[in-house]
Amino acid sequence: MKSYYGKCACGNAEYSITLPQDLSCYTPRACDCDFCTSRKVEYLSDSAGRIEIRSVLPLQRLKQGSNQATFLSCPTCATILGVAYITDKVSVGAVNATCLVDKAALQPAISASPKQLTAEEKVARWLMLWSSLKITEHE
Ligand SMILES: [Zn+2]
Repeated sequence: MKSYYGKCACGNAEYSITLPQDLSCYTPRACDCDFCTSRKVEYLSDSAGRIEIRSVLPLQRLKQGSNQATFLSCPTCATILGVAYITDKVSVGAVNATCLVDKAALQPAISASPKQLTAEEKVARWLMLWSSLKITEHE
């Protein structure tokens, strides 16, 4: 397992993603919805991986689309660090690959169109693709 780091534009929030394969083996997914394209978000995850998002200030949480996933952004610079699906049973997520320090090592992003999926199909897809997620925030 290897860990890679990413951070927001102002540096108040950061993440680490631990992946079973080298970063060069991964192709981030560029979601084609209006929300993600306007913010140029590309998602990276591995179901066998682990993500930890850390923030100096409480992260901003935003829901959109089918209202099930939560977008986590820095309250200071508004950079999206990643997206999460958290219930009392699971906590999974994907990071915004454009924040990665080693972004250049990734394969070019491919377009994904999850908006065509039903709410149930989306959750099934997240549980299959996303990594376990831990969030640490400090006041
Ligand atoms: Zn920031």
